[in-house]
Amino acid sequence: MSTLILENCAIATMDGQRAEHASGHVVVSGARITAVGPGPAPSPDGASGALRAGGAAETVRRVDASGCLVTPGLVNTHHHLYQWASRGMAADATLFEWLTALYPVWAAMDAEAVGLAATAALGWLARTGCTTTMDHHYVFPRAGGDVLRATITAAAGVGLRFHPTRGSMDLGVSAGGLPPDDVVESRDEILAATQEAIEEFHDPSPESMLRMGVAPCSPFSVTGALMVESAELARRAGVRLHTHLAETADEQVYCAERFGCTPVEYVDSLGWLGDDVWLAHAVHLDDAAIARLAATGTGVAHCPSSNGRLGAGVCRVPALLAAGVPVGLGVDGAASQEASSLVAEIRQAAMVARAAGGPRAMSVRQALELATVGGARLLGREDDIGSLEPGKLADIAVWRLDGLPHAGIADPVAALVLGVPPPLELLLVNGNPVVERDRLVTVDEEQVAAAVRAGASARLGSAS
Ligand SMILES: [Zn+2]
Repeated sequence: MSTLILENCAIATMDGQRAEHASGHVVVSGARITAVGPGPAPSPDGASGALRAGGAAETVRRVDASGCLVTPGLVNTHHHLYQWASRGMAADATLFEWLTALYPVWAAMDAEAVGLAATAALGWLARTGCTTTMDHHYVFPRAGGDVLRATITAAAGVGLRFHPTRGSMDLGVSAGGLPPDDVVESRDEILAATQEAIEEFHDPSPESMLRMGVAPCSPFSVTGALMVESAELARRAGVRLHTHLAETADEQVYCAERFGCTPVEYVDSLGWLGDDVWLAHAVHLDDAAIARLAATGTGVAHCPSSNGRLGAGVCRVPALLAAGVPVGLGVDGAASQEASSLVAEIRQAAMVARAAGGPRAMSVRQALELATVGGARLLGREDDIGSLEPGKLADIAVWRLDGLPHAGIADPVAALVLGVPPPLELLLVNGNPVVERDRLVTVDEEQVAAAVRAGASARLGSAS
């Protein structure tokens, strides 16, 4: 088993006491953290003991991380990886205008295009500190091949811990929904494919690199019957539930007209609140809705950049946190959030909360909590990831703070949250390096960028 020792670094553990060390160490053995604390790493008795036990195959790597801040790897709780291939379109539109413009683009994507988009999106997530991400894939073109498998292959290639959800849409425009009829599936097809995906891919073990979820898309693209049956399927299989909810004022009007209630009341009536459910956006919530989410333990994936890009509104995160609602951060799909940087989303969350609610609406450490322990809780992984503690999985971000943009900032956590996104000295997932010196080591960034450029040129060529 290999051992990696980080030393001489500032550390924000995000453990139960939120312990921080101005200069400390983290020791990783195999896939797990074995020691975290102030000062130098303990003299390598433990390491040499392991060396003796493990024989000649043992390796010990020491990293002098002077000038760096070490945090838990960041957790992304809402994304649509395939949208990397449709960035920059409908750049000044409302959500419903944007969706209507993009459905036909997405309907033309096949497994090869989705796999490439996912590799690019996952690579950029890693470059911005993410070690675990969910994906919400809900467009399954009939001639597109196995697009879900393409995202899973991409995640294994990049090396991120992956929580894909099998998404779905069964309410086309002819039945009163928003998407065109040719991008929706039948309820039976969806439920069968979802069951199969869970059976093939879901790994419930503690060190799992892949756990499935079930994620019908939204109230205006999915029938109530599919919502109910999806929840029953997920609970039988022991996997989590996810959907978009209360994103825009237009959706509120849609729910009032069609169902005679608010979005939260609607999903409550379908059995869709609970501690195994997390909702993307949840921007338009009244006090009663917040109380109901808190009482049921339902989580919220806060996506402040996407909400800004689409002018959706400002999620009431301070009120959610005060009520005890679990909240994580999401970059959301790259088509509504071209930056797609998870570390930048921490800054965005703090800025939006303070702009709306005053200077004390969210501390820099609360913002970092959303991206670490908060996200881990939403994905049901709080026992495995989200903080740096002995026994937890070695998902670790090492941020370089001694360069021009950050050198001299008094508080390293403030430097990370309020400064520009810092370079990553190292990013570990399950103890394995994914990023070193701000470059992906698992895939070739230039090759991926060139392939994305070629794909975009081909699409523009075929459209003209
Ligand atoms: Zn979304």
